[in-house]
Amino acid sequence: MTQTAKKIITILENLFEDKKSNDFLPLHEPRFGGNELKYVEECIKTGWVSSVGSYVDRFERDLAEFLGAKHAIATVNGTSALHLCLVASGVGIDDEVLMPAMTFVATANAVAYQKAIPHFVDVNKDTLGVCPQKLSEYLEKIADVEDGKCINRETGRVIKAIIPMHTFGHPVQMDELNAVAEKFNIEVIEDAAESLGSLYKGEHAGTLGKMAAISFNGNKIITTGGGGAVVTNDSELAKKLKHLSTTARVSSGYKFMHDVVGYNYRLPNLNAALGCAQLEYLPDIIARKRKLAQTYRDEFANLSDVEFVQEPSDCVSNYWLNAIILRDGGVLDEVLEQTNGNGFMTRPVWELMSSLPMYKDCPSMNLSNAKSLVSSLINLPSSYFLVK
Ligand SMILES: *Cc1c(COP(=O)(O)O)cnc(C)c1O
Repeated sequence: MTQTAKKIITILENLFEDKKSNDFLPLHEPRFGGNELKYVEECIKTGWVSSVGSYVDRFERDLAEFLGAKHAIATVNGTSALHLCLVASGVGIDDEVLMPAMTFVATANAVAYQKAIPHFVDVNKDTLGVCPQKLSEYLEKIADVEDGKCINRETGRVIKAIIPMHTFGHPVQMDELNAVAEKFNIEVIEDAAESLGSLYKGEHAGTLGKMAAISFNGNKIITTGGGGAVVTNDSELAKKLKHLSTTARVSSGYKFMHDVVGYNYRLPNLNAALGCAQLEYLPDIIARKRKLAQTYRDEFANLSDVEFVQEPSDCVSNYWLNAIILRDGGVLDEVLEQTNGNGFMTRPVWELMSSLPMYKDCPSMNLSNAKSLVSSLINLPSSYFLVK
């Protein structure tokens, strides 16, 4: 075993000494410690289990209130939330949508559902999200604004939107990014799937662009089983999003009347019940996640082989997934193999979107930072109940 792998395993073993030798510590496990069962039982007893019910309304209200946003629209998952954002923004055939190459595949898929084209940009090594400086230099080189539209000179297509993603909960430099987007007249849709509860200059991730998508999948900071939401402060847009998510039905007495192609993306009441219960103690979950991150940070501070990924300046991160960066990327595979083999689940970051078969021909800038992270970053066990 390499020294680096040995040192990392020793740290993990010391931190989680309660772990039995045949236990496996997953990356991120859901746990239900509040009113989940009570609320779900109520759904079943009353028969309100599907896409209409009081928990859906309450979940949307509670979520918006938590975020300090005007509106939240609950959806069946984070991917459908992203898709709705793109539909509502008018992203369509052959429009280009900028996004980090280093993201979960859903960000690119949602764009492909609209027959639009993902256009990959590099990330910043400090935030792990879109680098506004590099983006600005790139757009100055390849794009022009004509008649209020941002045109990619190299492809002749319109660049309609950008989807910054707050990786592992760490917020992107949104002031700088919003300034670039404004200059080039590009709509900003946050992929806040991983960053519920993270703050950027005191404001919640998910409230920093025109609209945002959040995920409540089983591995996220809180879960509704499967679920998601779109968040926005724009009331007209909120109405449109809800309309699109509920098959675009217009009230017309007893008749089934629909005015555009809509989607059946509403979150069922059963799932919303879980979400309401989880939201009640989200602040405690975040506090524990931050405590776990602090513990990791202290432990890894003395280890010169790795660097612990810390929250960016001006930010309070939810530390959804903890990450370290190996100084010597050459040992990545070995560290992954040894840690997983010793009962500690670790994972590398996603393969870059630009290297997936269906997206390999999409436009892309130089991705040097993302490439270096793919060969050196690993995520560590991050469930909130790993600390008291
Ligand atoms: C989880 C996730 C999504 C998608 O959410 P689902 O609820 O799984 O559809 C989108 N983007 C990112 C970055 C994610 O991590």
